[in-house]
Amino acid sequence: MTKTHTTGVRGDSGREMAELVASRVLDVPDFPKPGVMFKDLMPLFADGDTFREIIDGIVRHHGRDSFDTVVGIEARGFVVAAAIAYAAGVGVVPVRKAGKLPRVAYSASYALEYGEATLEVHQDAFTAGHRVLVVDDVLATGGTAEATLDLVERAGGTVAGFTVLLELGFLGGRERLAPRPVHALLTV
Ligand code: AMP
Repeated sequence: MTKTHTTGVRGDSGREMAELVASRVLDVPDFPKPGVMFKDLMPLFADGDTFREIIDGIVRHHGRDSFDTVVGIEARGFVVAAAIAYAAGVGVVPVRKAGKLPRVAYSASYALEYGEATLEVHQDAFTAGHRVLVVDDVLATGGTAEATLDLVERAGGTVAGFTVLLELGFLGGRERLAPRPVHALLTV
């Protein structure tokens, strides 16, 4: 396990913010399976000053009045979404893995390297035209984000923005989501 390198890093909110995220990420090799370098953001969540700075930076980037609700993607996205929602004075909607939501939901399935994953959102999660800021911890191939943005729109929301703390640029998630804009605090 090593720290992600912090010098000369880049991100959509400038170098200082990118360096701040990089300083609180641990690289865990071969998790959850061989060949994957897991980007562990728990140190960032656990550091109160850094967490607050990151959350305030995301709200500033989008503008406090540009969204009505925040969507977090299970499970680490929940941590980020709830904090942003509280800071902006709006509500939070969870997008969950299949079978967890108690009421009628929309489902979106997408391919993983091996097999398939399904995400769900309650059908009554948004009122028509609700502006939704979608957040997650890490953007990799973009499959999770694409399914989530699709769910938000099917449920009547309007995607107001999509932010991740860390983007694995070499996996092409940003290109997959185009022309929808991606805001990543740190791109590696
Ligand atoms: P993807 O659908 O490929 O963009 O994967 C994104 C989702 O999987 C996010 O919810 C991340 O939390 C998680 N994820 C994928 N790859 C990694 C990684 N290398 N480190 C940490 N989380 C990851």
